Amino acid sequence: MDELASVIHTTRSPEETALLAERFVSALALQERDRGTSTLVALSGDLGAGKTTFTQGVARALGVVERVTSPTFVIERVYRLPESAAWKHLVHIDAYRLSGDAELATIGWYDIATNPQNLVLMEWPEQVERGVPSRAVRVSFEEVDEHTRNISIHGVGL
Ligand code: ADP
Ligand code: MG
Repeated sequence: MDELASVIHTTRSPEETALLAERFVSALALQERDRGTSTLVALSGDLGAGKTTFTQGVARALGVVERVTSPTFVIERVYRLPESAAWKHLVHIDAYRLSGDAELATIGWYDIATNPQNLVLMEWPEQVERGVPSRAVRVSFEEVDEHTRNISIHGVGL
């Protein structure tokens, strides 16, 4: 399959979303093996659509043992990853409270986004859209009903 195609996955529980995230990050690590810059993932969708749940699955797959919670108020959290992981840091950003890409500078975005050791997952990329390079992998979340989510992944084949 064309790795740039968008594929929609339907999940029926938070755990299924976390499991999808685990498969996603394994495929992403292979795809990004020869990267010369950070790996960027933009997570779009309404409040409660599953962006943080997905990030928790990614963190679990990479060996993060700390509890991963939404960085809505602190904007950004950085998790140090074990040697076995394909990146040194997982950077979880919630851009909900940022307005415009100029505000990205306040969190040192240029250094974050250029470091090949960083896997960056950003919620609410729309808030800072021009600051997010077009090479970012896009994942969109749609709430279908209480337990069901449609998750569309663009840019990684799995
Ligand atoms: P966001 O970060 O997009 O605001 P969260 O991941 O914080 O969303 O919250 C998603 C909410 O939806 C959680 O309360 C979770 O338990 C619930 N939920 C129900 N079904 C699913 C599903 N299939 N995938 C992800 N979350 C789900
Ligand atoms: Mg969230």
